Amino acid sequence: MTDQFSICSRCFKDEGLQLDAERIGINNNNKKCVNCLSNKGKKLTKELVRKLCYIFFVRGTIEKFDYGGFPIIQMNEHKSNRKKSVELSEHLEKDAKLIESAGEIGLFYYAPRFWMFGEIEPLKDLQSDKRSKIIEKVFDLYPTKQITTGESFYRLRLNPENPEDPNEYDSPPDEFIGNGRLDDENLPLLYGSQDLQICIHECRTTVEDNIYVGKLRPEKNLKLLDLTELIEEEEGVTEFDSLDLAIHFLFLAGKHSYKICREISKAAFKKNYDGIIYPSYFSFVSNGLVPFETIYGISIRRYEKLKEYAKSQVIPNLALFGRPIKNKILTVECINKVLINQVYYDTTFGPAAHNGFGPIPEENEML
Ligand SMILES: [Zn+2]
Repeated sequence: MTDQFSICSRCFKDEGLQLDAERIGINNNNKKCVNCLSNKGKKLTKELVRKLCYIFFVRGTIEKFDYGGFPIIQMNEHKSNRKKSVELSEHLEKDAKLIESAGEIGLFYYAPRFWMFGEIEPLKDLQSDKRSKIIEKVFDLYPTKQITTGESFYRLRLNPENPEDPNEYDSPPDEFIGNGRLDDENLPLLYGSQDLQICIHECRTTVEDNIYVGKLRPEKNLKLLDLTELIEEEEGVTEFDSLDLAIHFLFLAGKHSYKICREISKAAFKKNYDGIIYPSYFSFVSNGLVPFETIYGISIRRYEKLKEYAKSQVIPNLALFGRPIKNKILTVECINKVLINQVYYDTTFGPAAHNGFGPIPEENEML
């Protein structure tokens, strides 16, 4: 019975660790914890201790950069290999030691590969005067997708003046355009999604808002550039040259990336596309998944067997050029009021401080 409960949620001083442990631990009040002697805590096996360690110290220290991101702290079973233990605040240090011994693991500062924080050639070119060359490559490698007259999608409006008027669901008037990820002062866009939850996130909705949704259907088949696809790249292309990772990171980046996204959008308009399908910035928080996931320092997007899984993590959004409702390219089939009855946040915790970034990252160094 070596894999019996070694510690429990009551063993920890840190509030976040206690709560994370309670969430995954096993209910067993008949037994006292061998470590803290309480019988009230949720019990943890060695495997659960490792899971807890991943949730709190690895996922909990994921740092987002301008492009990309990685966990500052990692764990492994080779305690003896670790160069330097992680420096934590005093109370957390005790908890971490307990986790390391009960889970038979070690914590260390992760040495990321440079592509993980955006050192990807096509991504750097997109930020430079070589942008148009990469955008041409995007059109060569990404597929065209049709949205047919048999399909529909949603468009959300917050506080519209005349919610029952179909024109309210068209692209915004001239004075309000040019602020989104893909629209430009000269290029109005209608944003929508087949996923209503994503529409609610994308509109930064609050409980104060009066929310309305239009169900829109194309009047003709629409030709769209599909940037949610996981593209096949040439043999020998590494993460450092990957257009797939460049585009993936671009759409998971914040407002500083909009300028580049808008150039792709304008190019698609010039090439007579009706619009773009693109990955939602909220894909990961909506799915509850870990962004920028890697295995042994390699992106899961590059494992043949994990490609379908990697693709399923991304939630597609739609952006259609011009004013498709006014131009009768879309019909507003139905309008409803949307009520947010309950908001639930799924949370886990991480350390508030972990003493900086550890050693300077070394290229090609893996877990
Ligand atoms: Zn305990």
